[in-house]
Amino acid sequence: MKYVKEPTYTQFITGDIPRFDDRNTAFSKGHREGNKYTSMHNQCVENLKKCKKGKTVIDAATFSAGATVDYVVRRNLLGREIVPVYNTVHRLKTPDPKKISRIVKEKAQWIGADLVGIAKTDPRWIYTHWGEQNVRYSQAAEVGDPIEIAENYPYVIVMAHEMGYEIVRRSPAVEADTDIEYSRGAWCSASLATFIAELGYRAIPAVNEIGINVPLAVDAGLGEAGRNGQLITRDYGPRVRISKVFTNLPLVSDTPIDIGVQKFCEVCELCSIYCPSKSLMKKERTDQPWNLHNVPGMLKWPIKAMQCLDFWVKNGNHCSVCIRVCPWNKPNNLLHKFVRFFVERNIMNKTIVYFDQALGYGKQAKDIGYGIDTHLENR
Ligand code: SF4
Ligand code: SF4
Repeated sequence: MKYVKEPTYTQFITGDIPRFDDRNTAFSKGHREGNKYTSMHNQCVENLKKCKKGKTVIDAATFSAGATVDYVVRRNLLGREIVPVYNTVHRLKTPDPKKISRIVKEKAQWIGADLVGIAKTDPRWIYTHWGEQNVRYSQAAEVGDPIEIAENYPYVIVMAHEMGYEIVRRSPAVEADTDIEYSRGAWCSASLATFIAELGYRAIPAVNEIGINVPLAVDAGLGEAGRNGQLITRDYGPRVRISKVFTNLPLVSDTPIDIGVQKFCEVCELCSIYCPSKSLMKKERTDQPWNLHNVPGMLKWPIKAMQCLDFWVKNGNHCSVCIRVCPWNKPNNLLHKFVRFFVERNIMNKTIVYFDQALGYGKQAKDIGYGIDTHLENR
């Protein structure tokens, strides 16, 4: 792993990067077009009625359980400033940024974050306006309300939450770790924001609200952006969910890292090959957006986001195939740390991709049932 002066995406910037409008995410557009997210849940109920393997009533109950905290915290705390409860009078006076950064990170890990980093809030990664999906679930604003926070919240603390390796192997059947890690992200960001608010500083917790997670996480030194459009971390690959806290507490930014993802993704196209909706790009990067879901100004592998969401609707639950098949998605154990030594140095990239396939990594888990009768009767 190398520490680098600039995030690794910087080398691919070709022009101005316009800020993205949250109303242009596939979820927000899908919401306007009859709410595809609701259609996905309706399809989920159809699946459980038919007792489809990996999509039974037990599976649906599992992801609902996982999402419980997420829904409650989103609706009540995320996307808006946290108000201190106990300490509304005293404020930490001129905390040393280095020391308080260390303490904030310790607290983030104590609360439950697996990875944590700090960056300056880059206005390019802040949405211009609130979109339908985030408004619907957080109720923190109205659709179309402008978002201007970079000046008043100059730092962002970004956290990553590991999803379970074995559970992700179930995808595209139900894998409920996405849901439980959203809950953990909501819990961690709200709790950390409360800690900062009680110190006397401003703090907005968020998971998907307010800004684009991947570049913020790259800026905070948590990993690099991959072909699959996700954050690739050193320890868990793309098998993480991200949360963050925007704040005016004076902090010290972390240094971005280079773990070899850019060159590796150039030779590995596994996510684009196995994506069931063909939403991921093969071959070389482009700075040309496919549609309103992408922005110009940077060479990358833009995603056909609505095509991806349409697959989720058909599937009846979200999909993590592009996480499952990624060679960076490995248990963080001794064997894989050894292989990572070569991957990070881009030694034998093609050979590593070949053996990843030959050894059967990335295949869907065979055992995705519960071994009990999941047929239904009316309550
Ligand atoms: S989530 Fe599934 S459908 Fe969407 S891009 Fe990833 S692999 Fe493709
Ligand atoms: S599957 Fe391969 S190309 Fe896709 S993000 Fe992972 S390493 Fe990159």
